[in-house]
Amino acid sequence: MKNKELLSIIIPFHNEQEVIMECQYRLSDAVKSLDMDVEMLYVNDGSKDTTLNTLLTLMDKDARIKIIDLSRNFGKEVAMTAGLDAAKGDAVIVIDADLQDPPELISEMVQKWREGFDVVYAKRIERKGESFVKKATAHLFYKLINKISDYDIPENVGDFRLMSRQAVDALNQVRERKRFMKGLFAWIGFPQTAIEYSRDPRFAGETNWNYTKLFKFAIEGISSFTQEPLRLATYAGFMTAFGAFILGLYFIIKTLLFGEAIQGFPTLITVILFFSGVQLLSIGILGEYIGHMFIESKQRPLYFIKKTYSKSDD
Ligand code: UDP
Ligand code: MG
Repeated sequence: MKNKELLSIIIPFHNEQEVIMECQYRLSDAVKSLDMDVEMLYVNDGSKDTTLNTLLTLMDKDARIKIIDLSRNFGKEVAMTAGLDAAKGDAVIVIDADLQDPPELISEMVQKWREGFDVVYAKRIERKGESFVKKATAHLFYKLINKISDYDIPENVGDFRLMSRQAVDALNQVRERKRFMKGLFAWIGFPQTAIEYSRDPRFAGETNWNYTKLFKFAIEGISSFTQEPLRLATYAGFMTAFGAFILGLYFIIKTLLFGEAIQGFPTLITVILFFSGVQLLSIGILGEYIGHMFIESKQRPLYFIKKTYSKSDD
C-alpha cells in the first residue's frame, strides 16, 4: 500500500459548523476514486462555534484527518498558509469549507497535475447566488489590478486549486505578512492551467466577507503587488502643478489686460479643494505602503498553533 502518492487537502474553517458534515461527505466521495493516499488538513481559524468539536468527532472516525487549531482568528489567507506549511503531500489542494468549490473537480485537477502542471486552478464561469454588485466589483478589481501589475492574476479564480510539491515549497518560502494569495499564486510562476466550473452558492452558513473587508482586500492586493499607485500620486502631482501654472499665467495676463476686481472666490475654493484632495490621496497612498513596511518590518510569525490533532503519530 505504501509508495502511493500523497494528496493533501487543506480546508480553512471559520465558524462553519453547519457545513462541516456535508463538506466531509462530499469530499470523501470525491477522493474515493483517486489512486492516491489522502491527508485532510483542517485548519480551525479561531472559530467561535462548535467547529472544532465537530472536526474532532470527524477525526475519530476518519484517520486521514488532521486538525490544526490556530490560537485565534488569523484570516483565511493565513489559515491556508498554516495548512500549506503542514502539508506533506506530493500534490496539495486548497478548498473552501462552504462547498462553493465543488470537491468533484479534484479528480480532474489531479489528472492535470499528472500531465505535468504545477498549479491547476479552478476558474468560475458563473457565480450563482452572488449579487450583481459583487460580480461587477470583482470584475472591476481584476481589470484594475491586471492593468497595473506586471503579471496576470487570472480573473474569476478563487483559492481553490491544486499545487505540486515544488509549487508549495516555493510558496512556503514567501513569508510576507500581508498575504494576497491570489497574487502570490501567480507570482511564483511554474506551469499553470485552469479547469472551468460554475460556482455554487454557499451550502449553509454566512459568508465571512462584507464590503468593508472586500474593499480592504482590494487595496491590500493592489498595494502589495504593484508600486503603480505611488507613481499615480506623482503623475497627479505633476498634472495639477502644471495646471496650476497655466492657470496662474492666465490670471496674470487677464489682470494685466483687464484689471481685477475682487472676484474669483469660487475659483479659489475649487482650486483649494482640488489640491487638498490630491494631497490627501497622495498621503493616503504613501500611508498604505508605509503600513506594509511597518507590518513586514516587525517580522512576526504568521500564526500560532494552539494544538495539532492527529490520529497517526508522524
Ligand atoms: N475562512 C477562514 N478564516 C476567516 C474567514 C474565512 O478560515 O477569517 C474560511 C471559511 O471558513 C471558508 C473559506 O475561508 O472555508 C471561505 O470563506 P467565505 O465562504 O466566507 O468566503 P467567500 O466564499 O465569500 O469568498
Ligand atoms: Mg464562500
